[in-house]
Amino acid sequence: MPCKNCLEKPVINLTNNNIKLCRQHFARYFERKVLKTIKDYKLIERNDKVGVAVSGGKDSLSLLSIIKQLKDKIKIFELEAIAIDEGIKGYRDKTLERAKKFCKDNDIKLHIFSYKEEFGNTLDNFLKKSDMKACSMCGPFRRYLLNKKAKELGFTKLATGHNLDDETQTIMMNYFRRNIETSARLGPITGISKDKRFIKRIKPLYLVTEKEVATYAFIKGLIDDFNECPHSSDSYRGDVRDLLNDFEARYPGTKHSIMTSFLEILPLLKESYKKSIPINECKSCGEPCSQEICQTCKIVEILKNKG
Ligand code: SF4
Ligand code: ZN
Repeated sequence: MPCKNCLEKPVINLTNNNIKLCRQHFARYFERKVLKTIKDYKLIERNDKVGVAVSGGKDSLSLLSIIKQLKDKIKIFELEAIAIDEGIKGYRDKTLERAKKFCKDNDIKLHIFSYKEEFGNTLDNFLKKSDMKACSMCGPFRRYLLNKKAKELGFTKLATGHNLDDETQTIMMNYFRRNIETSARLGPITGISKDKRFIKRIKPLYLVTEKEVATYAFIKGLIDDFNECPHSSDSYRGDVRDLLNDFEARYPGTKHSIMTSFLEILPLLKESYKKSIPINECKSCGEPCSQEICQTCKIVEILKNKG
């Protein structure tokens, strides 16, 4: 079966509606879908200073590329990029080179911050002296640095490359762990609080699947391999991802159904949990958190005690 719109060979079969598209028509479909998400959810507004969190992987480079095209077209917002170097040898060093090249070629200012400079060591070295799971340490560190640095850089929005697969994994993880309150903070634009201490986060790839993003990044020449973080399967999220992929293969459209159902109940969740999450300031670093000491400061303290 050729492309739905022409006679060219298809590069993808969209599982939610069983439509096949060739390179050219898929790229157009993908860009339109992302731009429609930005428009429908008002993710970018006039005079915004948008910081794109870029890792050099398929998601962030596709996102940065589309937002750059939009900026060049409508010229009503500023655009910069921010990257975090966790210190994962053989992986992040390579993707960061790609991010640097993309930003240089496209004239985008890139700010890079590292765990080594900000927390005193690389993730690789921290893991050698701790039995914590990589993502349990890395996730809070990354969120912390992105929020803190985005504020210092004066960004009004922080755009991340979370796609439909990432978000459906988080939704299911929160169900499985009876963590519904956390789900109230999800959505294409977050969070519950209009607190100035948090940068608004936007997720323009919210409604496109990982397979679609990978296909787009590949046909646009944004990436030439699909390397993943060596720790990505070593987590609860990795197990939920495998489970959802297996279900999607057997029952195509499952991920879209989860997302559509979730978006229907999200306004109710946001309303229910509007006031229930107290926002304190961490007594150690001053960053916003829900307890007395933030998760990042707690981990840093544990690591310090381990020498
Ligand atoms: Fe960090 Fe885990 Fe993501 Fe790797 S997969 S970059 S360890 S959060
Ligand atoms: Zn803190």
